[in-house]
Amino acid sequence: MTCKSIYQVTRKEEAVTATLNGMTVPSWASHIEDKLAPMPLLLVQAYVDTLDRDLGTDIFAHADEARAWLADAGLRNPDGLDPGQPDPDFAADLRLAREVRESLRAMIAHTTGGKPLTGAELLPLEQVTEQAQPRLEVTAAGQVRLRATAPAQRVADGLAGLLLTIRDAQADGSWARLKLCGNPDCRWAFYDRSHSRRGAWCEMASCGNRLKNRNLRARRAQAS
Ligand SMILES: [Zn+2]
Repeated sequence: MTCKSIYQVTRKEEAVTATLNGMTVPSWASHIEDKLAPMPLLLVQAYVDTLDRDLGTDIFAHADEARAWLADAGLRNPDGLDPGQPDPDFAADLRLAREVRESLRAMIAHTTGGKPLTGAELLPLEQVTEQAQPRLEVTAAGQVRLRATAPAQRVADGLAGLLLTIRDAQADGSWARLKLCGNPDCRWAFYDRSHSRRGAWCEMASCGNRLKNRNLRARRAQAS
Protein backbone atom coordinates (compact mmCIF):
# COMPACT_ATOMS: atom_id res chain seq x y z
CA MET A 1 0.00 0.00 0.00
CA THR A 2 1.18 3.46 -0.77
CA CYS A 3 0.27 5.29 2.41
CA LYS A 4 3.12 3.91 4.53
CA SER A 5 6.56 5.40 4.23
CA ILE A 6 9.72 3.78 5.51
CA TYR A 7 11.37 5.43 8.45
CA GLN A 8 14.38 7.46 7.43
CA VAL A 9 17.50 7.38 9.60
CA THR A 10 18.02 11.07 8.88
CA ARG A 11 14.76 11.89 10.61
CA LYS A 12 16.35 11.21 14.00
CA GLU A 13 18.48 14.35 13.75
CA GLU A 14 15.58 16.37 12.43
CA ALA A 15 13.24 15.09 15.22
CA VAL A 16 10.40 15.23 12.74
CA THR A 17 6.92 15.54 14.09
CA ALA A 18 3.92 15.64 11.83
CA THR A 19 0.34 16.50 12.63
CA LEU A 20 -2.36 14.05 11.66
CA ASN A 21 -5.99 14.83 12.45
CA GLY A 22 -4.85 17.27 15.11
CA MET A 23 -2.62 14.68 16.77
CA THR A 24 1.10 15.30 16.85
CA VAL A 25 2.82 12.19 15.52
CA PRO A 26 6.28 11.50 16.95
CA SER A 27 9.08 10.82 14.46
CA TRP A 28 9.27 7.14 15.51
CA ALA A 29 5.68 6.68 14.32
CA SER A 30 6.16 8.44 10.97
CA HIS A 31 5.82 5.10 9.13
CA ILE A 32 2.16 4.88 10.22
CA GLU A 33 -0.25 7.27 8.56
CA ASP A 34 -3.66 5.94 9.49
CA LYS A 35 -5.56 4.36 12.39
CA LEU A 36 -3.08 5.40 15.04
CA ALA A 37 -3.43 4.25 18.64
CA PRO A 38 -3.46 6.89 21.39
CA MET A 39 -0.28 7.49 23.35
CA PRO A 40 1.41 5.58 24.90
CA LEU A 41 -0.07 2.53 23.14
CA LEU A 42 1.03 4.12 19.84
CA LEU A 43 4.58 3.00 20.61
CA VAL A 44 3.49 -0.66 20.74
CA GLN A 45 1.70 -0.23 17.39
CA ALA A 46 4.68 1.58 15.82
CA TYR A 47 7.01 -1.13 17.12
CA VAL A 48 5.00 -4.00 15.60
CA ASP A 49 4.58 -2.03 12.36
CA THR A 50 8.33 -1.56 11.88
CA LEU A 51 7.82 -4.61 9.64
CA ASP A 52 5.67 -3.89 6.59
CA ARG A 53 4.95 -7.19 4.83
CA ASP A 54 2.89 -5.45 2.17
CA LEU A 55 5.68 -3.10 1.07
CA GLY A 56 8.39 -5.62 1.99
CA THR A 57 10.19 -3.11 4.23
CA ASP A 58 11.64 -3.71 7.67
CA ILE A 59 13.18 -0.97 9.84
CA PHE A 60 14.96 -3.74 11.81
CA ALA A 61 16.52 -5.28 8.69
CA HIS A 62 19.55 -2.99 8.86
CA ALA A 63 21.48 -2.48 12.09
CA ASP A 64 22.04 1.27 11.64
CA GLU A 65 18.42 1.99 10.88
CA ALA A 66 17.26 -0.27 13.73
CA ARG A 67 19.66 1.39 16.21
CA ALA A 68 18.48 4.86 15.17
CA TRP A 69 14.81 3.93 15.44
CA LEU A 70 15.17 2.21 18.84
CA ALA A 71 17.07 5.22 20.21
CA ASP A 72 14.52 7.67 18.76
CA ALA A 73 11.69 5.68 20.36
CA GLY A 74 13.55 5.64 23.70
CA LEU A 75 13.66 1.85 23.73
CA ARG A 76 17.43 1.59 23.76
CA ASN A 77 19.79 4.46 24.33
CA PRO A 78 23.16 3.38 25.73
CA ASP A 79 24.67 6.41 27.50
CA GLY A 80 27.91 7.79 26.20
CA LEU A 81 27.90 5.82 22.99
CA ASP A 82 28.53 8.02 19.98
CA PRO A 83 26.92 7.14 16.67
CA GLY A 84 29.35 5.02 14.63
CA GLN A 85 31.15 3.75 17.77
CA PRO A 86 31.30 -0.02 18.38
CA ASP A 87 28.22 -1.27 20.23
CA PRO A 88 29.11 -4.78 21.42
CA ASP A 89 25.65 -5.66 22.74
CA PHE A 90 23.70 -4.55 19.72
CA ALA A 91 23.58 -7.80 17.71
CA ALA A 92 22.00 -9.70 20.63
CA ASP A 93 19.64 -6.80 21.36
CA LEU A 94 18.52 -6.60 17.75
CA ARG A 95 17.83 -10.35 17.68
CA LEU A 96 15.70 -10.00 20.82
CA ALA A 97 13.96 -6.92 19.37
CA ARG A 98 12.96 -8.85 16.24
CA GLU A 99 11.75 -11.88 18.21
CA VAL A 100 9.73 -9.75 20.62
CA ARG A 101 8.12 -7.95 17.67
CA GLU A 102 6.63 -11.27 16.51
CA SER A 103 5.58 -12.14 20.08
CA LEU A 104 3.74 -8.81 20.36
CA ARG A 105 2.10 -9.47 16.98
CA ALA A 106 0.95 -12.85 18.34
CA MET A 107 -0.42 -11.12 21.47
CA ILE A 108 -2.43 -8.69 19.31
CA ALA A 109 -3.62 -11.59 17.12
CA HIS A 110 -4.81 -13.46 20.20
CA THR A 111 -7.00 -10.57 21.34
CA THR A 112 -8.62 -10.55 17.89
CA GLY A 113 -9.58 -14.19 17.94
CA GLY A 114 -6.19 -15.76 17.29
CA LYS A 115 -4.62 -18.77 18.93
CA PRO A 116 -2.99 -18.63 22.39
CA LEU A 117 0.72 -17.84 22.31
CA THR A 118 3.04 -20.77 21.73
CA GLY A 119 6.04 -21.52 23.94
CA ALA A 120 8.29 -20.18 21.17
CA GLU A 121 6.32 -16.91 21.09
CA LEU A 122 6.41 -16.55 24.88
CA LEU A 123 10.14 -17.25 25.17
CA PRO A 124 11.40 -13.81 23.96
CA LEU A 125 8.97 -12.11 26.38
CA GLU A 126 10.30 -14.25 29.23
CA GLN A 127 13.79 -13.15 28.22
CA VAL A 128 12.66 -9.53 28.55
CA THR A 129 11.10 -10.05 31.98
CA GLU A 130 14.22 -11.87 33.17
CA GLN A 131 16.70 -9.27 31.85
CA ALA A 132 14.82 -6.07 32.70
CA GLN A 133 14.44 -4.74 36.20
CA PRO A 134 11.40 -2.47 36.51
CA ARG A 135 11.19 -0.42 39.71
CA LEU A 136 8.27 -0.05 42.05
CA GLU A 137 7.75 3.57 43.09
CA VAL A 138 5.25 5.66 45.00
CA THR A 139 4.47 9.16 43.68
CA ALA A 140 3.75 12.28 45.73
CA ALA A 141 0.08 11.77 44.83
CA GLY A 142 0.22 8.38 46.51
CA GLN A 143 0.04 6.43 43.27
CA VAL A 144 1.93 3.13 43.23
CA ARG A 145 3.67 2.62 39.90
CA LEU A 146 5.91 0.12 38.23
CA ARG A 147 8.39 1.83 35.95
CA ALA A 148 10.89 0.43 33.48
CA THR A 149 14.53 1.48 33.86
CA ALA A 150 15.04 4.81 32.10
CA PRO A 151 16.96 5.64 30.03
CA ALA A 152 16.89 2.12 28.58
CA GLN A 153 20.48 0.93 28.24
CA ARG A 154 19.63 -2.49 26.82
CA VAL A 155 16.65 -3.19 24.62
CA ALA A 156 15.14 -5.46 27.33
CA ASP A 157 14.61 -2.36 29.52
CA GLY A 158 12.79 -0.56 26.71
CA LEU A 159 10.72 -3.62 25.87
CA ALA A 160 9.77 -4.04 29.54
CA GLY A 161 8.35 -0.51 29.23
CA LEU A 162 6.28 -1.66 26.25
CA LEU A 163 4.94 -4.59 28.31
CA LEU A 164 3.95 -2.18 31.11
CA THR A 165 2.14 -0.02 28.54
CA ILE A 166 0.29 -3.13 27.34
CA ARG A 167 -0.60 -4.01 30.94
CA ASP A 168 -2.14 -0.53 31.40
CA ALA A 169 -3.97 -0.76 28.05
CA GLN A 170 -5.38 -4.14 29.05
CA ALA A 171 -6.62 -2.57 32.30
CA ASP A 172 -8.33 0.42 30.59
CA GLY A 173 -9.73 -1.61 27.66
CA SER A 174 -7.83 0.16 24.86
CA TRP A 175 -5.77 -2.97 24.20
CA ALA A 176 -8.80 -4.69 22.64
CA ARG A 177 -8.88 -1.97 19.95
CA LEU A 178 -5.34 -2.68 18.80
CA LYS A 179 -5.81 -5.27 16.04
CA LEU A 180 -4.03 -7.02 13.21
CA CYS A 181 -5.22 -6.58 9.65
CA GLY A 182 -7.32 -9.54 8.55
CA ASN A 183 -5.29 -9.94 5.37
CA PRO A 184 -2.84 -12.80 6.20
CA ASP A 185 -0.28 -11.28 3.82
CA CYS A 186 -0.42 -7.96 5.68
CA ARG A 187 -0.92 -8.39 9.45
CA TRP A 188 -0.39 -4.66 9.97
CA ALA A 189 -1.29 -3.46 13.48
CA PHE A 190 -4.01 -0.79 13.47
CA TYR A 191 -6.16 0.91 16.09
CA ASP A 192 -9.88 0.37 15.65
CA ARG A 193 -11.73 3.56 16.69
CA SER A 194 -15.02 2.43 15.15
CA HIS A 195 -18.12 2.55 17.35
CA SER A 196 -18.93 -1.07 16.57
CA ARG A 197 -15.33 -2.18 17.30
CA ARG A 198 -15.60 -4.47 14.28
CA GLY A 199 -12.87 -2.98 12.08
CA ALA A 200 -10.90 -5.78 10.43
CA TRP A 201 -8.60 -4.14 7.88
CA CYS A 202 -5.67 -1.74 8.03
CA GLU A 203 -7.25 -0.12 4.96
CA MET A 204 -10.52 -1.11 3.36
CA ALA A 205 -9.37 0.22 -0.03
CA SER A 206 -6.41 -2.13 -0.17
CA CYS A 207 -6.60 -5.14 2.16
CA GLY A 208 -10.36 -5.21 2.72
CA ASN A 209 -11.34 -5.13 -0.94
CA ARG A 210 -8.46 -7.38 -1.96
CA LEU A 211 -9.60 -10.07 0.46
CA LYS A 212 -13.25 -9.65 -0.47
CA ASN A 213 -12.40 -10.01 -4.16
CA ARG A 214 -10.25 -13.04 -3.43
CA ASN A 215 -13.06 -14.68 -1.43
CA LEU A 216 -15.55 -13.80 -4.15
CA ARG A 217 -13.34 -15.41 -6.82
CA ALA A 218 -12.95 -18.51 -4.62
CA ARG A 219 -16.71 -18.79 -4.14
CA ARG A 220 -17.32 -18.37 -7.90
CA ALA A 221 -14.70 -21.00 -8.68
CA GLN A 222 -16.39 -23.37 -6.22
CA ALA A 223 -19.81 -22.69 -7.71
CA SER A 224 -18.74 -23.25 -11.32
ZN1 LIG B 1 -3.74 -4.77 5.68
